[in-house]
Amino acid sequence: MQHRIVVIGAGYAGAIAAGRLAKRLHREEVAITLVNAEPDFVERVRLHQLATGQTLKPRPFGEMFAGTGVEFRVARVTGVDVDRKTVGVIDANGAGQLAYDTLVYALGSGWNAQGVPGTAEHAYEIASRPGALRLRERLAGLDAGQTVVVVGGGLTGLEAATEIAEARPDLDVALAARGGLGDWLSPKGRGHLRQVFGKLGITVHEHAAVTGVEAGHVTTADGKAIPASVTVWTTGFAVHPIAKETSLEVTSTGQIVVDGTMRSVSHPDVYAIGDAAFAIGAGNKPLRMSCASGTPMAWQAADSIAARLTGGKLPNAPLRYFNQCISLGRREGVIQYVTADDRAVSAALTGRLAAVYKELICKGAAWGVANPALGLPTRRRRVTRERVTAGPAVKELA
Ligand SMILES: Cc1cc2nc3c(=O)[nH]c(=O)nc-3n(C[C@H](O)[C@H](O)[C@H](O)COP(=O)(O)OP(=O)(O)OC[C@H]3O[C@@H](n4cnc5c(N)ncnc54)[C@H](O)[C@@H]3O)c2cc1C
Repeated sequence: MQHRIVVIGAGYAGAIAAGRLAKRLHREEVAITLVNAEPDFVERVRLHQLATGQTLKPRPFGEMFAGTGVEFRVARVTGVDVDRKTVGVIDANGAGQLAYDTLVYALGSGWNAQGVPGTAEHAYEIASRPGALRLRERLAGLDAGQTVVVVGGGLTGLEAATEIAEARPDLDVALAARGGLGDWLSPKGRGHLRQVFGKLGITVHEHAAVTGVEAGHVTTADGKAIPASVTVWTTGFAVHPIAKETSLEVTSTGQIVVDGTMRSVSHPDVYAIGDAAFAIGAGNKPLRMSCASGTPMAWQAADSIAARLTGGKLPNAPLRYFNQCISLGRREGVIQYVTADDRAVSAALTGRLAAVYKELICKGAAWGVANPALGLPTRRRRVTRERVTAGPAVKELA
């Protein structure tokens, strides 16, 4: 009898958790299944690069997980029944269910239009690969002098605006931010940001809350119209509705509430990680939706599951931040050093060196996903007999 661990979602969090579980547990004792809607890994942190015409390295999961002991399945998750302990899935063969003893929920997030009128019809998003590809096509069709407005002054907005302006210096690029430009950064980081925006000729509309998007312009709360042949919407991420439809305890936004081991506070056999989870980090503050949070959450969940199954020691590594790594096109960047709870300190790395550093961070994150079982010491312990359970027989996909 094997303990069945089903990991849903193979973004940074889910893929890393599945690989780590395989390193921690004996193959004959656990069956680890990783389910993802797409057959290859999407490097979300590079989707602004994809949107501006750059080529991303293909990363097929089938190759990554071959020989690791993780069974990878391409299927769309349609629902989770946390009482029957099943995951509803649909694939090329039709609909079915996967039974689990332990579930790792890592379905990530998509764009967040925040209900602003006109976004669905007129705005472009870069939170998903199809969204980034749509924007790529649209940008390629723009003539010199046409206007692009990036809405959102967070990390994704800053990266998108600079990437577009660098790749297409012939376009008139603007950024609309609810606050001041990079107002959470240190004076050094903020100063450098302004310098790069100036150099790239990006118009910045500060304290401009966009309240409507129409073909050809966006409108702000104070009634201003900003011309926009293309509007790129980057104001945060929204989680998929699947968790909210279950009896799991979720926040008002649908994130699964977890404890320090990433275990659901309402259902002990469910773990949630990455953007899909609401976890508290250093300073008693919720972790922000990011790859920087998702990776340590995945380690924490995998090590906690392994510890609980084998009677080992639970991990107690604090979930904390070290820096915010912001690319500003391919040649510039800001690495803002932060406190454990993500507040900027005065030190920041800027310029070309920061761009190289950010590139290494992105490469490192993708490497961690692409080599799920490499570079990690194997610490396999035996699953304690009483914990190896078998659930009810459930129809499995062919
Ligand atoms: C342009 C951009 C730049 C970013 N830059 C940074 C950065 O520099 N640093 C940083 O820390 N973060 C950055 N982020 C945020 C970061 O990408 C996300 O926080 C991170 O990807 C979350 O990881 P995850 O594993 O939780 O979810 P995801 O990466 O979203 O992965 C979720 C996976 O689940 C799959 N899935 C979803 N629904 C289903 C379903 N129903 N059935 C089956 N599979 C499903 C998806 O296909 C996907 O593979 C950036 C995001 C964007 C869009």
